[in-house]
Amino acid sequence: MISEHASPLAALGGVDAGGQNVHVAALSTALARRGHRVTVYTRRDSPDLPAKVRVQPRLEVVHVDAGPATHVPKDELLPFMEALADGVVQDWGRTPPDIVHGHFWMSGIAALNAARSEPAGFRVPMVQTFHALGTVKRRHQGADDTSPPERRFLEPSVGRSADRIIATCSDEVFELKAMGIDTGKVSIAPCGVDLDLFTSEGPADARSGPHRILSVGRLVPRKGVDLVIRSLPYLKTAGFADVELLIVGGGAGGQDPEAQRLLDLAQDLGVADQVELRGQVPRDAMPAIFRSADAVACTPWYEPFGIVPLEAMACGIPVVAAAVGGLTDSVVDHGTGLHVPPKDPAAIAEALATLLASPALRAKLGRAGERRAKARFSWNRIAAETEKAYQLAVAGTADATSLEPMEGAAL
Ligand code: UDP
Repeated sequence: MISEHASPLAALGGVDAGGQNVHVAALSTALARRGHRVTVYTRRDSPDLPAKVRVQPRLEVVHVDAGPATHVPKDELLPFMEALADGVVQDWGRTPPDIVHGHFWMSGIAALNAARSEPAGFRVPMVQTFHALGTVKRRHQGADDTSPPERRFLEPSVGRSADRIIATCSDEVFELKAMGIDTGKVSIAPCGVDLDLFTSEGPADARSGPHRILSVGRLVPRKGVDLVIRSLPYLKTAGFADVELLIVGGGAGGQDPEAQRLLDLAQDLGVADQVELRGQVPRDAMPAIFRSADAVACTPWYEPFGIVPLEAMACGIPVVAAAVGGLTDSVVDHGTGLHVPPKDPAAIAEALATLLASPALRAKLGRAGERRAKARFSWNRIAAETEKAYQLAVAGTADATSLEPMEGAAL
């Protein structure tokens, strides 16, 4: 695995540390449990990091020297991808893996360089997961998109060169097609959820009022946390003035400009006393926080996948989800939550009011969410689906039906 900015060992909830970190960590762990040897290569972003960390017997994280040993925003990492590829090839020595899997477009460049390293004479099958696509980001963020301009041509080029692409949701397949990529080489394997950690049974975080709505994620504008704050005055009008909104992720204010923007907005709307920004919360503390909520609001402008709704579902909590990207696959409208149109605070309030008004509906949707998370989104299942994509990449064919499961391969 190559994951240039998203280390499986990083703390979550910062600007560049979220779902990709969880995905790479959990997928690698699940593949290692299934008998494969997995190495995750990520960029050294602190001088204190050891060269190698053995996470479990078959899973190792390697910190490669590529650029300054300090945090560099992910959109500024492109110049260091060659050094990352060199470090990977050096670590392989004479024995390259059976598969190299790039995560995010930039890692795809490093993965392709390593997989097809001319000096070393390698031709390792290369699988790519994009996690997010520049075309979608540009559409929604326009001039605010900080991606390097080269992304426009390098990302599609990674897609064309990869032996296989893993899309995390059906919507992404359409986007890949629009990028000119042959969808015959695209497999779908969603993200999963840690079903040992995220359960409906267990302690719940204490709350002050009768109702709590929860928003979890990196505090970046596209996550649409401001839309949930904007829904509070509508909820008040609908008779729910006693709702507490807990926001988890990012900084708690002061230093974090996005946190400050959200606090200012709450102030302007006269709902500041209803809003708590808790900042970054460690992963182990998340399940109790989910269990304390009546509903989890996930209202991004767009969403490549979105692990938070799965975590909420696994904890038995209904989700109000913008009907975008991966959320249309994971959250079943009126089944495990309620869909709302994107960027629509009044619709968010209406959906939340429907849930707050009916404990029975909340319980029904919550139970169905828990069942769906268990049945469809275990990391073991996602790892098995990923193996199939690896087999296809290895076989260089679009027909996996005749292939036997792969045994203990080195990745
Ligand atoms: N998360 C966390 N602590 C925080 C904020 C977020 O553990 O303070 C976790 C959250 O539970 C989820 C991940 O970070 O597992 C966010 O993943 P998601 O796919 O929802 O969003 P992304 O960050 O990839 O856009």
